[in-house]
Order: sequence, then C-alpha cells, then structure tokens
Amino acid sequence: MYGSDTICAGATICLIASLIWTVQGASDCTSGTPVSKDDLTAFRVSLSSPIALRTEVTYAQAAELVPDGLSEGNAPFFQMPVPQYIVTPENEQDVVKAIQFAADHGLKTSARGTGHQISGIAVPSCGIVIDMSNLNKISLAPDLQSATVQMGARSGALFNETLPRGVMPVAGHCQHVGVAGFTLGGGYGWGSRYFGAATDNVLSMDIVTVGPNRTATLARLDYKSDPELFFGMRGAGGMLGVAVSMTVKTHPIPQTTTNATYAFNISRAQEVVTWWEAWFKASPRTLESGIIIKRDHSLGPYITIWVVLVNASSPETDTAFANLSAFASNRSIPALDGGLSTNTSTLAMLTDYPTYCGNLSQATYWNTYYTKNSTIPQGLVSTMVTWITNTTSDGAYFVMYADLPPASGPAANAYGFRGTYQTEVIDAWDRSAGGAVVDGDANHIAWVKAASAAVIPFTSGRYVNQLMFDFPDDNRASYEPATWERIVKLKAAHDPLNLFRDLNFARPGASTASSK
Ligand SMILES: Cc1cc2nc3c(=O)[nH]c(=O)nc-3n(C[C@H](O)[C@H](O)[C@H](O)COP(=O)(O)OP(=O)(O)OC[C@H]3O[C@@H](n4cnc5c(N)ncnc54)[C@H](O)[C@@H]3O)c2cc1C
Repeated sequence: MYGSDTICAGATICLIASLIWTVQGASDCTSGTPVSKDDLTAFRVSLSSPIALRTEVTYAQAAELVPDGLSEGNAPFFQMPVPQYIVTPENEQDVVKAIQFAADHGLKTSARGTGHQISGIAVPSCGIVIDMSNLNKISLAPDLQSATVQMGARSGALFNETLPRGVMPVAGHCQHVGVAGFTLGGGYGWGSRYFGAATDNVLSMDIVTVGPNRTATLARLDYKSDPELFFGMRGAGGMLGVAVSMTVKTHPIPQTTTNATYAFNISRAQEVVTWWEAWFKASPRTLESGIIIKRDHSLGPYITIWVVLVNASSPETDTAFANLSAFASNRSIPALDGGLSTNTSTLAMLTDYPTYCGNLSQATYWNTYYTKNSTIPQGLVSTMVTWITNTTSDGAYFVMYADLPPASGPAANAYGFRGTYQTEVIDAWDRSAGGAVVDGDANHIAWVKAASAAVIPFTSGRYVNQLMFDFPDDNRASYEPATWERIVKLKAAHDPLNLFRDLNFARPGASTASSK
C-alpha cells in the first residue's frame, strides 16, 4: 500500500486514493523501499517528458500493455500482473534513469517491447514497466548488410524498411511481433532455417545493466566487449538487463517468392508427417516448412503442409516443390488447399502471412516445446490427432516446424534445442460476449493445458517466447542444462539486485502444478 499512501497529500484524498488503488491497482505492493512523494517528483522531472511516468497504475492500464483482445482489459481471461509504475522513455537516458529508480527502490523492472509475449512476462507485478513503444527508430546501414533497431520496433516496420532495398533481417512471422522480445528470447522467424535464429544475427546491442555498484550503466555489448554476457543476452535477455537498441545482420532477398499449402484428411496424419519429415530433411535450407494439425468448422480435423521459399529459387527448390505437389495430388483436400503460389511479393508474403498470424482480437493461449532430437518421436502425431479430435474449438491447433541451424563462435548464444522440432499447442477463440462464462474461456484454457501436458513427455525443452508459464519449471526448461548454469552465473554477476525477470519466474495466478 505504500505506493499510494506515501504520495497522498491530504487524509481524505489519501483515503479515496487508497480505495481506488485497492479496487483497481496493485493493492498488495509491499516489496522494495517506500517511494516518497519527493522521490517520485524528482524522478518525474528527471525524465524527458512529465507524462513519461504513470503512477497508480490500474488493472486496465496493465492489460493494455499486451495486445488488444489478448487480455480484454477488465474482463480478463487470465489475470495480468499490475505494476506500480509505467515509464515510457523518449530516449536511452530515460531508460537508464528508470532502471536506476528501480535499483534505488528495490523494485522489479522489465522492458516491454510490444507485449507480444502474451502471458504478460514484460509486466512485473508491483514493479516498474519500461514501455519502449516510443523508441522505434530503424536505420539500414549504407552497405545494406545490417540494420540498427530500437527496441520498441515491430517486425513489420523492420521488413518495410529493409525489403524494398532487397535485404531482410530475421524478424517475426507476424508483422506486429516486437523485435525486442522476439530477438532477446531467441526468435524463430522468416528464413531462420537458413539464416539462423534472430538472436544468431545480432552483431551488437546497447544495454543497461545494474552491477554490484548498484548503478544503472548503458554500454555497447558485442562478442569482443563481453562474450559471456553477449551469449546470455541473446536468448535470456529479459533476465539480465534492458536492451535499448541492437544492430542485426540483413540478408539479400528477391522481390518475389514462392509458397504452397496443401491440406489432407486427418486419417492421413501419420502418412503425411512421415512423408513430410523425409522430404523436409532432404529439402534445401532456403525452404521453410511445417505442418499444422487443426480443424475446420464443417470438415472437422485435418492436417496441412505449408512451405515458403525465403530466398532465390534453384533447381533444388523447384524439385522440392514439384515433389510436394506430386505427393499432394490425389491426396489433398481441394476445398482447403492453398496450392502453389509463385511470384508472390516477398514484402506482402512476409508482412501479411495469412494462415499463421492469428487474429489479435481473439483470446489466445499457447505453449511451445522442442522435441528431444531431430526425429519426430513415435506417438507424438497420434497424440496431437487425439487432442484435436477431442476439441470442438475451430481455433485449436498444433504447429510443428523446425531445424534451427547450430550457432557457434561469436554467434553462439543461450537459445538452444537446435535441429529439433518446435511444437506449438494453441487455442484462439472469440470473446464476443466479453465474459468467461459465456465465452467458455475455462474450456479453451483447460484444453491447452491438458494438450500441453500430453505433448511434454515427447519433448526436452520449451520456448520462453511462447509459453503461458502454467508450469513452474517453464522458465528454466527453456534452456539447455549447460546454458542454464551459465545464465545463473550471469544473473549473479550482472543483476545481483535481481531487478529483472526471476530465474524462477512464475506467472502470478498460474497454477503451481508441476509439468512432470
Ligand atoms: C501473434 C504472435 C505471433 C508470434 N510469432 C512468433 C514467431 O513467428 N516466432 C517467434 O519466435 N516468436 C513468435 N511470437 C512470440 C514472440 O517472439 C514473443 O511474444 C516476443 O516476446 C515478442 O516480443 P515483444 O518485444 O513484444 O515482447 P514483450 O512481450 O514486450 O516482452 C517479452 C519479454 O522480453 C523482455 N524484453 C522486451 N523488450 C526488452 C528489452 N528491450 N530488453 C530486455 N528485455 C526485453 C520482456 O521484459 C519480457 O521478459 C509470436 C507472438 C504472437 C503473439
């Protein structure tokens, strides 16, 4: 309660403020040292703009930090954490000041890129959120080989800056995905099978950390300046510091591309996956491909193969497309097929990929895992088929895609599980009436949790960027054991006050049941 008590001017106002705080805001904030009115005023005037700091944050304001529809403000389908303060920096010095304020008062803090980690891990309960949305500049280097991006930018903005010049970065499959969280948590994006993860493509970043001297410090980080911290920030970034900007590699890309989608009856699921796995392994790395197991309102469950060429075509890619078409003929369901599209605009393709991005006005709940090795395990396909058959939600689906190349030398980083299959468990649904009972939120969430628990035995790792943190071991299980040991050491050295995301992060309100 000190957050509201100590800044109240008079007894009556103070009482009203306390009541409002209790109803709408972070009523149980007892961590850290009390923040006096003078401290708060000094902090406010030190920032570039007096409106850069918001205090007495309400639940609705906290919910706005994740994209529309994903939390639905005051009618949430899962409980968002509520911070005490939101700072919206205008420049990097504002970021330094916000982190120093957090350090001085023992407040948890984290940057919020665009809030697309939909569990809300960018929002520390009772802490201070640094909302990077005004820091969104992008500049392409004159030699077109790299781009420098501020951490409030979205993937689509990065593509819009780069693709018309004939180059692309590794950015999100959906244009609204934030570059920051995507890259700092790993980032499997367009071209990742060939160019690597987004985080493999980072050349340097400007970051703010708070070391043992308790002073927030902005520094340029790259492989030469501190190879170990550079390793950790790429994959485990949210636990160690705040990046203000980063310079990423860009790669030449043609203006047009080819893609294909074929759908098959669910009874063919194992046949399709077995064929696809062999085809995928033999196909050039410039082809990105995956399978989706989902359902159609009238036709019921089905399975799709999708493939996108993220580079120039070659005789090998032509052969791969031809083999896929031959397999699909007489097997696929024409009513659901996208078929083969050639000469598609690369910019349109990469910024508006229709079958994957979902609808952010829908509620979405998901978890993402990595298989144990580079073979799709026996039993996983039938498990997914069973679960998709057992739901009536048209928004429920499983996606598998894969094969991130190894990253070594300066490119090595904390994002692991290379060469395995990424497996996503998702449900998305309309909340037309805006309430849990009418919309059946609990049923959708229960399905994702139960289907996730069924998939976990086939997997060895999780993806920090796409988890709801229902299981208490989710954060740790997002890293390979040897990497986790390095992250623990990095945390002690570079975040000794534990200001940033906890090693044992758990989503407030999530169940405490173990996944094991
Ligand atoms: C519709 C949709 C599609 C998606 N598609 C993909 C995909 O194709 N591939 C993929 O890999 N992922 C995908 N994601 C997941 C995406 O990578 C994560 O949601 C990612 O965290 C989004 O970045 P953000 O900046 O919005 O993160 P936020 O939600 O803002 O933050 C996520 C985490 O990153 C930290 N963070 C954010 N900014 C900084 C910073 N500047 N410095 C330090 N830490 C920071 C936060 O503190 C938090 O811990 C998708 C998500 C959605 C909702």
